[in-house]
Amino acid sequence: MQSFHPPRRTLMGPGPSDIDPRVLAALSRDTVGHLDPKFIELMDQIKQLLHYAFQTENNMTFPVSAPGSAGMECTFVNLVEPGDKVVVAQNGVFGGRMKENVERCGGVAVMVTDDWGSPVDPNKVEEALKANPDAKILAFVHAETSTGAISDAETLCKLARDNDCLTIVDAVTSLGGSPLKVDDWGIDAIYSGTQKCLSCVPGISPVSFSSRALEVVQKRKTKVQSWFLDISLLMNYWGGETKRTYHHTAPVNAMYALHESLVLLKNEGLERAWERHARNHNALKAGFEAMGLNFVVDEAYRLPQLNAVSIPEGVDEAAVRGALLNEYSLEIGAGLGAMAGKIWRVGLMGYASNPKNVLLCLGAMDAILTGMNAPIQSGVAVGSARESYASA
Ligand SMILES: *Cc1c(COP(=O)(O)O)cnc(C)c1O
Repeated sequence: MQSFHPPRRTLMGPGPSDIDPRVLAALSRDTVGHLDPKFIELMDQIKQLLHYAFQTENNMTFPVSAPGSAGMECTFVNLVEPGDKVVVAQNGVFGGRMKENVERCGGVAVMVTDDWGSPVDPNKVEEALKANPDAKILAFVHAETSTGAISDAETLCKLARDNDCLTIVDAVTSLGGSPLKVDDWGIDAIYSGTQKCLSCVPGISPVSFSSRALEVVQKRKTKVQSWFLDISLLMNYWGGETKRTYHHTAPVNAMYALHESLVLLKNEGLERAWERHARNHNALKAGFEAMGLNFVVDEAYRLPQLNAVSIPEGVDEAAVRGALLNEYSLEIGAGLGAMAGKIWRVGLMGYASNPKNVLLCLGAMDAILTGMNAPIQSGVAVGSARESYASA
């Protein structure tokens, strides 16, 4: 057996996305103990930086030592008790996982469904909240990575407040890529992930809980079913005021990586990061549309960081992805769930959201599809993207 050397890829799928070299360098620094005074300083800085990234003053803001799915579980297991009613808006794969979480907590999920590719419809949510005055929580996905649609989190959170509901928001793909304001929008519990728009390694999930959410947790009649994700225990380790005590061994080096990625985001500035994602999306869009590829989502609800396009007639979509990987070392995503075999998902997330990647992807797809005699406009995609940049 020999050391493992992964190929150098360009990651333009639904995550993980390209990691900033500064983040990879941070990962390889010397490991310290998880209660080392220097590590505790780092933890405090990570919390501060997460306050900025989430735009919140919530004291209970910290990274869960596990992937986005664990952040999802963390919000549900702490807030949902047996018998609780939760209105879950679903417009793709990840809303379905929210339903699973509610039911595994012993709660009752009231589903509000929208077509895949559409945003969550606030009118339907309002109807469901009015029809279920005993509902405790509204849960929805801000940026649906399975389709590339963004929902109006601000409006949905206001509806929840007006109907005396807490909110649980999935921001795994939105954080760092699309405008997100936890306090201004009144979000009560939110989780994200490190491998999408934060340009960081997979495996960590930043979460934040409002004081309203914490009051509900404190009044629980039953114990949180998960020992690992019980926030009252986690805060003995991540909390600021009391002496830190051992809860679990933090993934120390991964926390160096998270810190570096959050420093990069702070230095770029959230607004500028959002603008960069929009600019690169516009160039990719110009290229795809010139080729004749159609977006799944209406322009008004498109995520800049996840571009879902339909596969042209008669094209073997897996062969295209195979050629991209083998010849260009470029990964794009396939369709997920109901969209499997029907779409490609091209991510422009975090560090991967740059002109070089946009032009590489368009040139490669143009050449591969032209070589397959696919029904596209050949030779125009890269030029259209370059024009988009020139006029931006
Ligand atoms: C990727 C993703 C998740 C899951 O994150 P993991 O880190 O893969 O567990 C959850 N929700 C959305 C919207 C995602 O895109």
